[in-house]
Amino acid sequence: MVSERNRGRKTRKKEKIMAGKTAAVILASLLLATGCQSRYQPIETSAAQPDGPLSPSGITAEDKQPGGAVPMSSTSGPLSPLSPAGAGAAAGTGTGTSAGEGASAVTGTESSAETEPETSAAPEFAAADETVYITGDEVNVRSSCSTSSDVVATLNRGASVKRTGYGGEWSRVIYQEKECYIASRYLSTEAPETLAAAQPAAEGEVRLDPNWKYAEFSKINSGAAMLYKAEGASRKGITICVNAGHGTKSGPSVKTLCHPDGSQKVTGGSTAAGATTATAVSSGMTFADGTEEPKVTLALALKLKAKLLAAGYDVLMIRESDDVQLDNIARTVIANNAADCHIALHWDSTTNNKGAFYMSVPGNSTYRNMEPVKSHWQQHNALGESLIGGLKNAGVKIFSNGAMEMDLTQTSYSTVPSVDIELGDKVSDHSDGTLETLADGLLAGVNAYFGQ
Ligand SMILES: [Zn+2]
Repeated sequence: MVSERNRGRKTRKKEKIMAGKTAAVILASLLLATGCQSRYQPIETSAAQPDGPLSPSGITAEDKQPGGAVPMSSTSGPLSPLSPAGAGAAAGTGTGTSAGEGASAVTGTESSAETEPETSAAPEFAAADETVYITGDEVNVRSSCSTSSDVVATLNRGASVKRTGYGGEWSRVIYQEKECYIASRYLSTEAPETLAAAQPAAEGEVRLDPNWKYAEFSKINSGAAMLYKAEGASRKGITICVNAGHGTKSGPSVKTLCHPDGSQKVTGGSTAAGATTATAVSSGMTFADGTEEPKVTLALALKLKAKLLAAGYDVLMIRESDDVQLDNIARTVIANNAADCHIALHWDSTTNNKGAFYMSVPGNSTYRNMEPVKSHWQQHNALGESLIGGLKNAGVKIFSNGAMEMDLTQTSYSTVPSVDIELGDKVSDHSDGTLETLADGLLAGVNAYFGQ
């Protein structure tokens, strides 16, 4: 079953990756071009609703989606060439906790909506030219003004868009340089008071919102990540979470659940297979030359931040000093809600300079059937493959095939493409020049992943 939300993501992926070359993209373009003329449904019958109960205005509850698992711009990256990435994303995302209504209907009746005849009364749009703010959480941005049209993105409270037309129930907006539509009742010309706390629409601190999905599993979360926005015409509207591994005082003495469902870890690693809890944030290793791993992950993170911003990416920095009070779950949940992907930087604790690799999602059926892994593992692996490809092209030594299966806390809670990448080990060079090369390779991998 493919959900509303997932359908929107896939459309965007195709648009990004295949640059208008496929029939799907042509279809999506036609939908955009025709806008509301052919798709508008002033009143939809309940039978036509995949989304939940009708509101008095004819816009369903789904336009303020339940749950907390969808990122602010819902970019999921390209499809993995190996698997139908994202195809499973429906299963776990319809049962969130925050908005409730309509949640149970999200995945059940889509096909009826697809075949339902649509009326074609186009709304009159009064021209507008103003900034409007999202007033709800997980509000759909659609390709046309119908609740059966594709979801281009979902936005959270406080996100801003430019409104170019006002047609009553629907507003025409510009989202990432495209004409899209949002239900007017979730828009306001006034910024919500909770903007700073609830939504990283602007640069600045991003803290763990206790209402976010899985937030309750975090035990260290008094710190803040920092969001930086790219400037200029090259802005991509894609946010990369850069997570300098380790660096949380007291992290090693606190335990958190390995998996949100409390099940046992399926691989070994710094925490043994079979464990149900793991160190909230480990202290990291020490290089053979005496340098602490957290210093090096931070140095690389800062270089990567600069390169990403220069390339037009927004960057969510988990840590920019020796200590941030965010455990691995808090880091992951913040990335889930404020970024389009999550890259955690590490070096391994071996001593043979074996090369770089990413921690891939274990091919364990129990693990891959556990949410949110079930819905996202293909994305994680696809991002990892892209990063390794970028590093390899930059001349970085790669370990084996570039992947090692590992059941990580990060992976177990991630709802955006998410990778722990190991850039080398205890005896690998970590000079400034090497870190530059690694940052270049990672940027190339990010570009490849997002089709940039
Ligand atoms: Zn590490």
